[in-house]
Amino acid sequence: MKELFDVTIIGGGPAGLYSAFYSGLRGMKTKILEAQPSLGGKVTLYPEKMIWDVGGQPPVTGGVFAKQLVEQALTFQPTVFTKKKVGFIEKDSNNQFILTTDDGNKHYSKAVILANGGGIITPKRLEIEGSSRFEGNNLHYKMPSIKSLHNKVVMISGGGNAAIDWAVELLSIAKKVILVYRRGEAGAHEAQVDKLENSNATILKNTVIRSLEGVGSYLDEAVLENVWTGEITKERVDHVLVHHGYHQDNSLDISDNLLMERTKDGFYHGNAQGCTSQEGIFAAGDNIFYEGKVNLLVGAFQDAVNAVNSVKNYIDPAAPATAMVSSHNEQFDERNHEIVREMLG
Ligand SMILES: Cc1cc2nc3c(=O)[nH]c(=O)nc-3n(C[C@H](O)[C@H](O)[C@H](O)COP(=O)(O)OP(=O)(O)OC[C@H]3O[C@@H](n4cnc5c(N)ncnc54)[C@H](O)[C@@H]3O)c2cc1C
Repeated sequence: MKELFDVTIIGGGPAGLYSAFYSGLRGMKTKILEAQPSLGGKVTLYPEKMIWDVGGQPPVTGGVFAKQLVEQALTFQPTVFTKKKVGFIEKDSNNQFILTTDDGNKHYSKAVILANGGGIITPKRLEIEGSSRFEGNNLHYKMPSIKSLHNKVVMISGGGNAAIDWAVELLSIAKKVILVYRRGEAGAHEAQVDKLENSNATILKNTVIRSLEGVGSYLDEAVLENVWTGEITKERVDHVLVHHGYHQDNSLDISDNLLMERTKDGFYHGNAQGCTSQEGIFAAGDNIFYEGKVNLLVGAFQDAVNAVNSVKNYIDPAAPATAMVSSHNEQFDERNHEIVREMLG
């Protein structure tokens, strides 16, 4: 059945999730299409990292913050689809947008907010046969809970900033930190590399993981190869963390008769109101560039508000240009009363 939405948001990261919340606040029928199996965007890549720089939000891990974002986004019950990669956007003769997802389904919308960040990002995995059976247990492509690594032998594979930062962080948490990387030098901040080299961590340069051994779905040994000498060694491990960077899928095609200007770096060219060069298609978050753009979570939230207000005016030119503050929003009245009743006991 052809169900028409006011706005369809491509991407369920911070910009898309906050757009969904704000769009609900402005009374619009809203849909989110997210390619990954879960919502949260890039924040899900750093579940254990502390976030310090969101106004009014005490320091919080990425994992908790992503959960909070999702909870807030669902306030006005938008329609949410995960595992739906949008591959193509076109416009029909009724001025409605048609979005085709990778399963072949079509989604109809009066307006679109592109909140697709830097594309669909997935960690690069080890190309080792059979290693996937350890994933979800003690082979990790995202940082597991710090608690689970306490007093454990942790091997980190990778020589970039993320790998080195986590190796340093784990020095005081793990029983032993073993760092392996292919190159002769780590490509990370010098100060962090120095800290590691002056610690009791085992650093194995020019080394790669050749295979992982274990019982059932738990690994307990890494077989390593020195790529210069060919020497094979073995290390007993409790956990292996792999930080080999990310695959980025930016493939989102837009019909030739829609004019989407991009900067030379591939960002959508827009303005602070979230407008792109194509009427009816708006953008928010890491994917848009304009003068004064802030590439942080708070910037994504501001973009979301502006993009949603622009959508509202695009659909209904008579609507106020901005929403009232949430304390004056009638949709919150009942919830406000409930909170006061709870406070009074
Ligand atoms: C390691 C790291 C640490 C960071 N720490 C901080 C910090 O401490 N403070 C801070 O303010 N910022 C931080 N940031 C930046 C912050 O995470 C980003 O600014 C923010 O996530 C941008 O949100 P977004 O929604 O624009 O994009 P994203 O978070 O990238 O979300 C985009 C979403 O769109 C989906 N998508 C992409 N293409 C499609 C498609 N075709 N169809 C459907 N879905 C699609 C993706 O799967 C993704 O879920 C950090 C970033 C990184 C990488």
